[in-house]
Amino acid sequence: MARPYRYHVWHLPSFDALPPFSSVDISCPRLSGRSTETKTVYSLKKDMEELRRIGRTKGIVDDSIVRVGMSTENLDLWALKVGTGASHKVLFTGDHHAREWISVEIAYLVAEYLIQNYVDPPTNDKEKRIKHLLMNRQIWFVPMVNPDGHRITITANRSWRPNNRSYDLPARTFEAEDIDGNRRTITHPAAVFTGVDINRNYATSTWGKETFSFGVAMTSADPRDSGANSVWFGPSANSEAEGAAIAALMRRENFRSSLTYHSFSQLILYPDRGAGDAYLQAVGRGMNDLIAERGNPYSYQAGSALYHTTGDLMDFSLQVAPARPTFTIELRPRHPPPSRSHVFSGLPESEIEPCFRENLPAALALINCAGFDAQPDRTGCDSRVSAATVCQAVRNCWEVFQGWVP
Ligand SMILES: [Zn+2]
Repeated sequence: MARPYRYHVWHLPSFDALPPFSSVDISCPRLSGRSTETKTVYSLKKDMEELRRIGRTKGIVDDSIVRVGMSTENLDLWALKVGTGASHKVLFTGDHHAREWISVEIAYLVAEYLIQNYVDPPTNDKEKRIKHLLMNRQIWFVPMVNPDGHRITITANRSWRPNNRSYDLPARTFEAEDIDGNRRTITHPAAVFTGVDINRNYATSTWGKETFSFGVAMTSADPRDSGANSVWFGPSANSEAEGAAIAALMRRENFRSSLTYHSFSQLILYPDRGAGDAYLQAVGRGMNDLIAERGNPYSYQAGSALYHTTGDLMDFSLQVAPARPTFTIELRPRHPPPSRSHVFSGLPESEIEPCFRENLPAALALINCAGFDAQPDRTGCDSRVSAATVCQAVRNCWEVFQGWVP
């Protein structure tokens, strides 16, 4: 890729007159909120349009669906649908949490990589592998699930996490229960509460149960836990336009694997209820090995090992598609620096490319593994007696991406 790695915003009018893949300078608040700084950014809308055009000319992008829904403030939730193998579908999402800018980029860049690197006829092993994926999988990318929240991060508050939905609620006292059955009484005044955590609002079997980590709410019934750092699960399951669009997509498309990007901590999280699903576990460990191979390891663990949540997309995916591989990847950085300046939307642009490069093989593996129901049989994979191509066919669905360099 010739152009520099930079963050995307959803769109700005100043992009309209510019050619594809252009950048513009914007003035946005600093993380501290005390002044502004200049950021050079791309338009996701413009770049997805261009990828769609390129993919269409190559015959690998189906543009029958470009929008999977609308945000609260009527911004389009755009999808790119790449590949023609409609019986094995895969979903990638980014930016449930507005401030997690890197999650937009990784979902976008995987799509861009597949479209730009598709060559027909292929002339080497990598090109053959990419062609195989695009002929046998259909991969949906929704890089920015939360465009309203993202807009707040460039106009008002760099650390904004939820969507921008407001609820004018009367004063109320009620009982809330957590996932362990503990109860507490919540009393809040009449007020307007803004910002539901989209990733706590999915209609999972545990939606509406609170969770805590060291006494701090990680999933909250209390609307006073809305706002910039919201973990409020909202007034009812599936109440938020953004998550409802993704949920409808999942129910309709029968995805065979899915991945949702967040930041930070460098983790591959699997759903707690997937702990006993052998294939899901094998794929997750394989993806973890592929990331580790790039030199900056992530940790593979149950979602609750980070902290318990309810109503999140990963749980919802497992509910819709039992035992199918579904993961949450928490991207860079591994640890917050003491100043906390390099987390979320403070992660420097220089980290985008290395983060993409370490995540690409695992993303390709997940796409490939969507075509299997169990660990491929290794019988016959003996180079002394089998032709290399036969051996290749029965290798694990992730092993074929070992040593993959973009
Ligand atoms: Zn997040």
